[in-house]
Amino acid sequence: MAWFDKIKHTATKTAKLAKDKSTDLYEITRMSFSINEKENKIDKIFKNIGMLTYRDYENGVEFSEDIVLLMEDIDQKYEEIDALKAEINKLKNVEVCPNCKKTNPNGANFCLSCGTKLK
Ligand SMILES: [Zn+2]
Repeated sequence: MAWFDKIKHTATKTAKLAKDKSTDLYEITRMSFSINEKENKIDKIFKNIGMLTYRDYENGVEFSEDIVLLMEDIDQKYEEIDALKAEINKLKNVEVCPNCKKTNPNGANFCLSCGTKLK
C-alpha cells in the first residue's frame, strides 16, 4: 500500500468507527428510552394491581398479613388526609356535604348543591 492509500485507508476506518459509535450511541439511547417507557408502564400496572387489591380488601377479601399491613397503612393515610381536609375546611370556614362532598358556607342548614340537610 502506498503511503497515500495507507492514510486514506486509516481515515476511512476512523470515520467508519466514529459512525459506528454514533450509531451505537443512538441505538443505546433509543433502547434505554424504550426500557424506561416499559418500566413506567410496569409501575402503572403495579399501581392498578394495588388499587384492585385495595378494593378487594375493602370488600372483605382476605389477604396475607403483609398485604393487610400495607392496606392498613393506606387506611391510616386516608384518615390523616381526611383530618387534614377537615382542618383546611375549618380554616376556610366551609362545611362539606356528607352526600355530594361539595363545600358549603359554614352555618348553612342545607347543601347548596344537592339539598341534603347539614348538621
Ligand atoms: Zn350536597
